[in-house]
Amino acid sequence: MTETEDVHARETDSSNGVEAGRESRNGHGNRNGRLIVLTGPTAVGKGTVEAELRAHHPEVWVSVSATTRAPRPGEVNGRNYWFMSEGDFLSKEANGWFLETAIVHNMAHYGTPLQPVLDHIAQNTPTILEIDLQGARRVKSKAAGMGLDVVYVFIAPPSYDELVRRLVGRGTENEEQRKKRLETAKLELASEGEFDVTIVNNSIEQCAEDLWAIIAKEYGLER
Ligand code: 5GP
Repeated sequence: MTETEDVHARETDSSNGVEAGRESRNGHGNRNGRLIVLTGPTAVGKGTVEAELRAHHPEVWVSVSATTRAPRPGEVNGRNYWFMSEGDFLSKEANGWFLETAIVHNMAHYGTPLQPVLDHIAQNTPTILEIDLQGARRVKSKAAGMGLDVVYVFIAPPSYDELVRRLVGRGTENEEQRKKRLETAKLELASEGEFDVTIVNNSIEQCAEDLWAIIAKEYGLER
């Protein structure tokens, strides 16, 4: 699909806030596993949407990434992230421990531990990877070879200004970190056309519901 066609699809099929970028993805019965890759710019509300989704659908599993960034207040090791030193991260990376890794915002390493993902998809558990654009692209380059059927979901803010407002409002980054995050956000917003579906995060509840609709369709579950 060309970029122009994709933009057209986004504009013309926006029922429920879900903007389809591609036709139905059913009919991949011969695949080994399926998963949802969720990407969106900083402060768009991915974490809150996931928490809302899991509150209503605890059967959904969200992969816990590893990172070398410092924990934010309230973040718990093993729940939000596996926090680790750069040395530890790099040695795990060299040992093939990750499905994908990326250096995000030019600041810290992030990676998806491979084995828990394989374990969950083997059980057909609805599985979400919440990763950045580089990670989404890496998964894309590997998915076919691994027999994975992946739906790439982009969470977009209602507008760029609203994104800035949310980032400033959450107050967890200093000026320099905010600047880096907004630079990355611009690149990520420009990549929306690479994703199968866009959900605009106007409201957390609607966004979580839209995400569930995608999962339910992909896994053949009751809505
Ligand atoms: P934060 O530091 O705000 O928690 O996350 C920063 C960015 O890193 C977000 O865009 C998030 O999606 C991304 N991220 C989190 N975990 C992973 C991961 O395992 N791999 C990749 N590639 N990106 C990740």
